[in-house]
Amino acid sequence: MRQAQAVPNFSPAPSAAQARVARVGEWLRDHQAAIRRTQWIVVFIYAALLIVPALAPLPTRAAHIWTHVTLFAQFAFWGIWWPFVLVSMVLVGRSWCGLFCPEGALAEVASRYGRAHATPRWMKWAGWPFVAFACTTIYGQMVSVYQYPKPVVIVLGGSTVAAVAVGLMYGRDKRVWCRFLCPVNGVFRLLSKLAPLRFRTDREAWQAFDPKTGKHGEMVNCAALVPIKIMEGASTCHMCGRCAGYKEAVALELRSPNQEIVEGWGPPPSAWETALITFGLIGLAAGAFQWASSPWFIAMRQWLASWMIEHDATALLQPLLPWWILTNYPDQNDMMSPLDGGLMIFYVLATAAVVGGLVNVALALGVRALGKFEAERFYHVAQSLIPIAGCGVFLGLSALTVTMLKAEGLRFAFVGPARAILLVGAALWCVWLAWRISGRYATDLARRVGAVACVAAAAAIGVAQWVLLFWVW
Ligand code: SF4
Repeated sequence: MRQAQAVPNFSPAPSAAQARVARVGEWLRDHQAAIRRTQWIVVFIYAALLIVPALAPLPTRAAHIWTHVTLFAQFAFWGIWWPFVLVSMVLVGRSWCGLFCPEGALAEVASRYGRAHATPRWMKWAGWPFVAFACTTIYGQMVSVYQYPKPVVIVLGGSTVAAVAVGLMYGRDKRVWCRFLCPVNGVFRLLSKLAPLRFRTDREAWQAFDPKTGKHGEMVNCAALVPIKIMEGASTCHMCGRCAGYKEAVALELRSPNQEIVEGWGPPPSAWETALITFGLIGLAAGAFQWASSPWFIAMRQWLASWMIEHDATALLQPLLPWWILTNYPDQNDMMSPLDGGLMIFYVLATAAVVGGLVNVALALGVRALGKFEAERFYHVAQSLIPIAGCGVFLGLSALTVTMLKAEGLRFAFVGPARAILLVGAALWCVWLAWRISGRYATDLARRVGAVACVAAAAAIGVAQWVLLFWVW
């Protein structure tokens, strides 16, 4: 049995490409003032997109993205901003977090002037990324966050206020919120493992560094709370560039997008991370994007509503609750009754349980095919599903982009084929990762093929959710 190996702590002389990439890292280090100015511009745009639509009347049917601030903000946030922030994680790691994120920037500024308490233990609980993602996703569906501006103020604005409050309480010049509580931290951590870039510490160069003769020995503030000396992988690094060249040992470098996952770099894959991949991104997110189009949801709703009418129990069919609990916009003829809300939550959670459960069973069989079942091995094999997990969320969010553009009369024939290519490509990437990971635990071909077949089945379960949504329903 072979185990995941530690990251090699040395590197050959950098190639010309690596040297160019390292210079990009140093450029970031040398332009921190410009990065901060950019962050304030993003803060200003973010605040405007958040607040102005909430003060404007809701758009009529005749309004367009370019004529109504609410539709414009909707398109900017959900049509462009979020889907392409996800894509950026896979392309350039968490550069969004370190260079542009308004919430992270505000959290860091707040912590500069705050009380600087130590981070409490409850905040370090490893389950927060999963729980925060699940709660935000479900609440977003309850209040129709993609359609209406006031829920956006609650969901995004609430998150920003919480980030600032945490900044005011904990850490000094740090992003404690981003590290432990941000609802998308877990997703970003997973996706950035696929990035072809990372900041790497050469530990031998670090040890050999002489502060009397070496350059760049001044203390670096890593707001993302990464232990720079021993950092591995890209999942916790915000790619801010401040540590580039530190002790002549840290550099931005190119790497294989498979390396971090296959070789198990960084914090070891955990049960919570596995839950986020399987139950969260593959199961719950699919349910959240699916429920409104699902014939199963409609059939359940009709059956329950008929039963309630027959038994003269129609109170739960009325839109009783305010908009900040359940969607309630009579002027738009868009209201959710408690029955709708309860069923929606049930549908999303049931999808998470069934789909996530099946994916976990397939993964467990795959791990068993490699030999004795071990939890660490299971978590490691589960990482091979990150491409399909991320692809699904991107397709769900970009479906909003397509819907908004369709409402403007823009139709793109390439959307269907592009979705199919992305799903097939992501599933094949999962299979390749599973093949490489299996090679670390077994040399026997039959065992490896068995494990890969199980991961392929798990990826197919993920693909099926989007096939149902885009091609069957
Ligand atoms: S390790 Fe910290 S300081 Fe260095 S680039 Fe990443 S986030 Fe910035």
